[in-house]
Amino acid sequence: MNRISYAKQDINSEDIRVVNSVLKSRFLTTGPKIVEFEKKILDFFGPKHAIAVSSATSALHISCLSLGLKKNDYLWTTPISFVASANCALYCGAKVDFVDIDSNNFNISIKKLEEKLKSTPKSKLPKIVIIVHLSGHPVDLKQVKKLSKIYKFKIIEDASHAAGSTYNGSRIGNCKYSDVCVFSFHPVKIITTGEGGAILTNSKKIFNKARVLRSHGIFMKKQKKFFCQNYDMKYLGYHYRMNEMQAALGISQLLRINKFVRVRNKISDYYKKNIKSSRIKFQEIINNSTSSMHLFIIRLPNFYRNRIYKILKENFIDTNFHYIPIYRHSYYKKFKFKINSFIESERYFKEAITLPLYFSLEKKIQMKIVKIINKVVR
Ligand SMILES: *Cc1c(COP(=O)(O)O)cnc(C)c1O
Repeated sequence: MNRISYAKQDINSEDIRVVNSVLKSRFLTTGPKIVEFEKKILDFFGPKHAIAVSSATSALHISCLSLGLKKNDYLWTTPISFVASANCALYCGAKVDFVDIDSNNFNISIKKLEEKLKSTPKSKLPKIVIIVHLSGHPVDLKQVKKLSKIYKFKIIEDASHAAGSTYNGSRIGNCKYSDVCVFSFHPVKIITTGEGGAILTNSKKIFNKARVLRSHGIFMKKQKKFFCQNYDMKYLGYHYRMNEMQAALGISQLLRINKFVRVRNKISDYYKKNIKSSRIKFQEIINNSTSSMHLFIIRLPNFYRNRIYKILKENFIDTNFHYIPIYRHSYYKKFKFKINSFIESERYFKEAITLPLYFSLEKKIQMKIVKIINKVVR
């Protein structure tokens, strides 16, 4: 019997056709498909500028650099995220600190963010706060924006989960309340390019800087006199480009994003309606927003959580865990974070589990998962 995984990409014959046709074309990288994909990203998400890159991790890195993050600056984020949300600060030589999560929506707690900003000496206030829309459930961006004006920090949305989510009637990605928004197109995410990511912004300045950092920090010169000597490296940049096959796949996947999000929400609604136990807590969503439903996370007492993991596994169904608090990773030990500053994250660590959720997840598997969980927690 095939194992059921927690996530799975959806690739159709059209996806395959467009990637194949790129392989037969003149450009395999830095060609028309990248330009087209970036245009389609603008059309769908609504910001002024978009840059396709090799991953969300590289997007976060050059976004931080473009916002001027440097040695000894501070960057704050949530501990319940993928390590990339914090590592980008370390790449820039900056320091990371965390703000505990909200017990109901599992995102960064706005209340704790405000308290921490209030009680932090000026010299240690963050230059950037990265908010993460966990599972695609939006963080209350207006509240974060308000704080950013008082405490003078920049906002990056790590929207790796949130392609297709909405906040206050418009799409996450329009950067109405942030400086930069970053997406991931890894195969487990809402749409995929194999590997890939994007930087979205309304700032021409950030756009210009990030675009050059994507490709070695090299500028093309306009002068024609020294033919073939018309390029100049101004900054220490990187090679974070996406290629044409990836961009073609992205264009094709973007045509189905609304369908993907709709089906994910349908499966989530089925889970919520049919998993019946007062021991189980679902992730709440704030008012005036919708979720892409990248992940379906439940929380329940540790004993039952561990049993659900084990019994689903015995039934060839794999679950997952999002995420181990970042400060708990071995590499982060040296920063000596105090676990008791993150009471809710620590509880979450003991209680959370991610159930399978993807576009082609069969109804009979959904029913089986519900049945097993209800039996365990009865
Ligand atoms: C997947 C993910 C990333 C990293 O994405 P890549 O495209 O694999 O680099 C960063 N942050 C979050 C929250 C993610 O889920």
